[in-house]
This record gives sequence, structure tokens and C-alpha cells, in this order.
Amino acid sequence: MSIDFSDSALETEAPLVTTSLTRDDEAEGSLRPKTLNEYIGQQKAKGNLEVFIQAAKMRGEPLDHVLLHGPPGLGKTTLSGIIANEMGVHIRITSGPAIEKPGDLAALLTNLNENDILFVDEIHRLNRSVEEILYPAMEDYAIDIIIGKGPAANSIRLDLPKFTLIGATTRAGQLSAPLRDRFGVTLRLELYTPEELAEIVTRSAGILEVPIEPEGAMEIAKRSRGTPRIANRMLRRVRDFAQVKAGGVITEHVADQALTALEVDHLGLDGVDRRMLRSIIQHYGGGPVGLETLAATINEEAVTLEDVYEPYLMQMGFLTRTPRGRCVTRQAYEHLGLPVPGGISGGGLEQISF
Ligand code: ADP
Repeated sequence: MSIDFSDSALETEAPLVTTSLTRDDEAEGSLRPKTLNEYIGQQKAKGNLEVFIQAAKMRGEPLDHVLLHGPPGLGKTTLSGIIANEMGVHIRITSGPAIEKPGDLAALLTNLNENDILFVDEIHRLNRSVEEILYPAMEDYAIDIIIGKGPAANSIRLDLPKFTLIGATTRAGQLSAPLRDRFGVTLRLELYTPEELAEIVTRSAGILEVPIEPEGAMEIAKRSRGTPRIANRMLRRVRDFAQVKAGGVITEHVADQALTALEVDHLGLDGVDRRMLRSIIQHYGGGPVGLETLAATINEEAVTLEDVYEPYLMQMGFLTRTPRGRCVTRQAYEHLGLPVPGGISGGGLEQISF
């Protein structure tokens, strides 16, 4: 059976790969797992957390401050909600750029209850003066407030309830050392395997009440670049196709046709990935090329390329980072169907020589 996708209105839909939340994701609350058991994959992080949560509960203390890092859409916010749920405490959610002044943070902190969690997304984007308030808050559960100006200024110390700070970041390397050192627990989230993503897709399909065959779930999983947010987004788009064109059931064939129509190839690469690789090959002889130069060439933001596109391209062995810039590998040429120039090596740990 061949399905006609030509009249699709999907060009106007949100792109499948983005850093930011889309309207779809906001409606995604129901898909978020609520307990550690429901949270699929990330065995290492989960195993550690289980122990820390149990120990903190036994001592009747708040959990130590936790830093979660990894690419967007891997489940950092979800995991923080789960931690709050498992600890039986409230969570307040904010983000680095949203806290503009030290007073904003002071207001957030003084409004917490004992053992509550403050979740700060994009914590690497906190400004310096706000960050300095955090140090004593994290260490001594207190903040120093300056009252008055000039020689008459007075500093008073305000005690805070004992709380847990959970910081999430896509770039642990950009955190200042004093802030990083104040987290007792640092957990790195990894890209998910296709099997784990298939489980996530199947679970989400169950919640959305969309019939899906195991092969259909696997097809979506293989093409969602290791990221649950993308897997769930693709599931919604494929569901639309299945409903309108194929009687409602998501089979392997429907998933394949829908994702191909959305320009997501068999390995999950989309138009931006391909433009990125092609541009390095066509304009820079395969690399090395600096990230900013590359971003300008393909008219994308450097941070987006670095946070969203590169982790997967590197994991797939299509791209390597060298001190002199980004290089493509033999696999990238092969995947794009371009002739491989002599002397070029593969991805992985090999170094490319020119
Ligand atoms: P991040 O904060 O890292 O950007 P989120 O926590 O917002 O990512 O996760 C994105 C979406 O992916 C969530 O809405 C959730 O439905 C889904 N998700 C993430 N991790 C998992 C997981 N381990 N198991 C099931 N679903 C997950």
C-alpha cells in the first residue's frame, strides 16, 4: 500500500527538532512520567538517585543539591518533578534567564517550605550577582541582604528553610567552578537507545490512545535522535498521518512514510543536519571549520547547532570536533551519497588527517 502524503499541511507545523518547547510539548504534561519506575532508561542516573532519595528520606533531610546535565529534551525537567514526587515535597520551577536580579532569587528562596525543591533550568545562564546569592543559600541555607547604601549600608543574614536546588544545564562546562562545586550530586543524562525510545513511544501512544504496532514504535524510535521529546513529537505527527490517511493504526509503513514526508531520514537526520554536513563538505573541504563560521554559512544559531544537532551527529559518527573546528567523517559522505575523497577516515575515536 502506498500512502499519499503530498497534500500535507505539515510544512506549517513546528519543526521536529527544536531546542525550545512548542505548543505540543506544553500539552505534553500527561506524557510526563510521575515516578522513577515509569521513567524509562537512564539506569545509571536513576540507580544513584534511588539511593540518595531513600537515604535523605530515612534521615528526614532534604536531598543534596543536584545538577542535571545533557542535551535538551532528555528528561531533566521530568526527572526533577519525579524527585519532588518521590520525596513528597513541592517543586518551584524557574530558569536562569528569568531570574534577573538578586531580589528575584531572594523572593523565590524565602517563599520555599522546608525540604522543597527549587528547579532552575538553564542554570548556566544565571547572572553573576544572582549566582553569588546562591552560594550561601546552598551552603548554609541563608542569604545576606544589604540594606541601605554607602557607609550606612548594613548587611543582615536571613535564614532560609532547608531546600534542594536542582540545576539543569545543557552545558556543564559553562558553569562557574564555585557553583559547580556546591552541587553534591551531578548526573549526566545520556542519549536514549532506540529500544528505550520505542518503550517511551509505546507508553505515550497508550496514554494518547493511539493504536501502534511494535514495528511502528521502533521506526519512530530509530528516527528520533536519542531524544524522548522528539520521539513524542514525531508520534503526534505520525498519528495525524495515520488517522487521516491510513485508518488510524501506526504501522512501520505509516511511520516510515510520514517521517519521510517530514524530511526525517532513516537515521533521524533532518534538513538542518544534512545542510550542516553538506556545507562542511562543499564549502570547507570536509573541515575543519569553526562553529560560528559554519552557523553563519547555513543561517542557524551556533548554540542550536552545538546543543541540538552536534551531540547526535557525533554519536552517529558523522561529525568530529577537533581543536581547529568541526570535521565530517567518511560515514557522512557515504550517508549523503557523496564520493568519499581519498585519505578521509571514519568517525568514532579516529582523528581525521588532511
Ligand atoms: P529536558 O528538561 O531535559 O529538556 P523534559 O524533561 O522536558 O526534557 O522531557 C521532554 C519530554 O520527554 C517530557 O515531556 C516527557 O514526556 C518525555 N520524557 C523525557 N524523559 C523520559 C523518560 N525517561 N521516560 C519517558 N518519557 C520521557
